[in-house]
Amino acid sequence: MPLQIITIPCLADNYAYLIRETDTGQVAVVDVPEAGPILGALNDLDWPLHQILITHHHYDHIGGLEELRTTTGAKVYGATVDSHRLPKLDEALTEGDTFKLGNEVCDIMDVSGHTIGHIAFLFKNANAVFSADSLMALGCGRVFEGDFAMMWGTMLKFKALPDDTLVYSGHEYTMSNAKFALTIEPDNADLKTRIADIEDKRANNIPTVPASIGMEKATNPFMRADLPKVKALVDMAEANDAAVFGEIRIRKDRF
Ligand code: ZN
Ligand code: FE
Repeated sequence: MPLQIITIPCLADNYAYLIRETDTGQVAVVDVPEAGPILGALNDLDWPLHQILITHHHYDHIGGLEELRTTTGAKVYGATVDSHRLPKLDEALTEGDTFKLGNEVCDIMDVSGHTIGHIAFLFKNANAVFSADSLMALGCGRVFEGDFAMMWGTMLKFKALPDDTLVYSGHEYTMSNAKFALTIEPDNADLKTRIADIEDKRANNIPTVPASIGMEKATNPFMRADLPKVKALVDMAEANDAAVFGEIRIRKDRF
């Protein structure tokens, strides 16, 4: 196990993640909704912090950044495109860039659509991707800054990852996403099985993330806008994939 990953609930329904590379003991955090729970976890685990990885500029992902930076001295990594609206970056990143956490290589994916300049952190060797508000468990982020074609392009990037890649997203929205997914595909057996598992986890206060890319491809309606049966279910049999994605996103916004 090259990476140890700890999920930290923050604010009302955000998740931050601590990542420790076990060969070297280097530690990163993905997103800083608030500093307190992250500092608490570092203290409990007796881990230092070396890297702060920021996915996008929204307040619920950077609210505790300055406090965490000042307290730990960790270096801040974020998107070059977002550098004008993020706190000062030590490393500015664009798609295709890589950096290392200890011995593990992290690849940067541009996953814009929710915001322009939203990035995901992909640790290929560990089969883990940190996707925040782009791809979520059974859902995706609202398309605030990009357009539907851009966000569909982001879904295609996630679909291209190996099925066993685990997706660590930024919020616990899965139950409401599940209810919506059923309105699109009421007869999807994999979806029904997954929802039973989600209900079980939430009843026991267990996070529903991460989930695998394979699971998302089988059950997440936003990943399935290119399937003829899904197009037919939204009465868009002849439409292109991005338009079908857009229709599903519009329905979710109204849900
Ligand atoms: Zn966001
Ligand atoms: Fe968010």
